[in-house]
Amino acid sequence: MKDCKNIPFSCDIPVRYRVDVCVVGAGPAGCAAATCAAEQGAKVMLIESTAMSGGMSTAARVPMFMPFATGGKLLCEGYGRRILSGLKDMSAEIGYDCVDGINAEHLRFLYEELLRSAGVKLLYYSTLAATVTESGTIRQAVFTAPSGFFAVEAKIFIDATGDGTLAVRSGARYESGAENGEVMPSTLCPVWAGVDVETYLAGGCYSHNDEKMPELLEAAFRSGELPQEDYHHTGVFSISPNIMVGNISHVFDINAADEESLTAGICKNRKLLRAYEKFYRRHIPGFSKAEIVGSGSILGVRESRRIIGDYQLTKEDYRARKHFEDEIGEYNFPADLHPPRPGKQEILEHKRIFRKEGYAPGETYGIPYRVMLPKNLNNVLTCGRCVSADRYVHASIRVIPACYITGQAAGIAAALASDRGILPRELPFDDLRARIPFPGPWQN
Ligand SMILES: Cc1cc2nc3c(=O)[nH]c(=O)nc-3n(C[C@H](O)[C@H](O)[C@H](O)COP(=O)(O)OP(=O)(O)OC[C@H]3O[C@@H](n4cnc5c(N)ncnc54)[C@H](O)[C@@H]3O)c2cc1C
Repeated sequence: MKDCKNIPFSCDIPVRYRVDVCVVGAGPAGCAAATCAAEQGAKVMLIESTAMSGGMSTAARVPMFMPFATGGKLLCEGYGRRILSGLKDMSAEIGYDCVDGINAEHLRFLYEELLRSAGVKLLYYSTLAATVTESGTIRQAVFTAPSGFFAVEAKIFIDATGDGTLAVRSGARYESGAENGEVMPSTLCPVWAGVDVETYLAGGCYSHNDEKMPELLEAAFRSGELPQEDYHHTGVFSISPNIMVGNISHVFDINAADEESLTAGICKNRKLLRAYEKFYRRHIPGFSKAEIVGSGSILGVRESRRIIGDYQLTKEDYRARKHFEDEIGEYNFPADLHPPRPGKQEILEHKRIFRKEGYAPGETYGIPYRVMLPKNLNNVLTCGRCVSADRYVHASIRVIPACYITGQAAGIAAALASDRGILPRELPFDDLRARIPFPGPWQN
């Protein structure tokens, strides 16, 4: 089907917007970046290809947050604290005080509210197609949208696409997956209605970490009830007394930079969920009357491109709990490297490393500003899961609270640089640091 013939194509594209800071991608990192840049006084646009804010945290229905805090210290002070308290207020309003599982509707509404009150110009349904870049400086970014092509001019661009698409289209160098090409699997996260959460919680059958679930899974693989021998089973999380969202099932070898691969992956995963629906109804306490009533509107992609920056955070940095002079924040989650293949040995090894390498309460590694500066680009910052890290640290820094930390810092840096008419790389670090909210005290 794929035709490799090239065709010439050129057209005049209107420059429809001129702003100080253009953020591409409204995932957790992009929302944080745009909100925080606008709060510094910059004229900011946030442009997103789907019709919602939140990226994986909402569109892909990722079910829960990784840690916001450690040892009495809130690591995502500032934007992260506002997300937590906003969600708590909303869940309290409906009488279910729970931010264990992510209520995607609440979260995307909250992102939009914060963007609106900061004065960000938000545009959905608009996909970055290309950039006009001269000697490492992006002059315009070109989007394709229902109205056709349009371009945006900005002093500073922020790549919050998760996949590093803006930076790569502009000539940035990147790494992707492991050296042998392996990547973490993707997941289509299911939403379940009709669960008796109380019975589920009393049932002791949750994930690959307990005793009962692995036995049930093994029996289902043997009988053919579950078609893929995948012992990596993170589980389901409640967002109300009868609704749960799951991080279950994997599809392997998905290339997030290839729409054919993504399409095949999401269809395959949807089919897998049919089998998990039956399996849960038959075997999991509290699920006998439950059904899957929804799933991510995009496939949940854990790993794609990592843009090479002025500094690359490494496994050695993680192990050394290294801190940096140009640190914009700190984080602590262990590398959650989902094995690239299903199988029992793979998950046992994953669990062993995850536990062995985890930090004690209060321990953190630093995130240097330089991981957000793509090496050969001038007016671009990255944030979220495409910052400069090796594969190991990427598996830690990719989680949502860490994306709030890098997003917030990228937004503040972009606003400062644009205000002063300098490049992000030229920003005196002390001036940036003075504006970044640093970890504050935290009590659960
Ligand atoms: C299945 C799964 C389970 C996970 N579980 C957890 C968990 O339990 N806890 C946790 O904290 N984290 C979890 N994560 C990780 C976390 O959700 C993501 O790593 C995080 O959302 C990344 O944020 P981001 O803003 O960098 O990118 P994304 O969330 O990927 O957002 C990028 C945004 O950019 C948009 N975009 C992309 N390309 C373009 C373009 N060309 N033009 C315009 N817009 C574009 C996308 O539509 C998207 O909205 C999980 C991830 C997955 C996939």
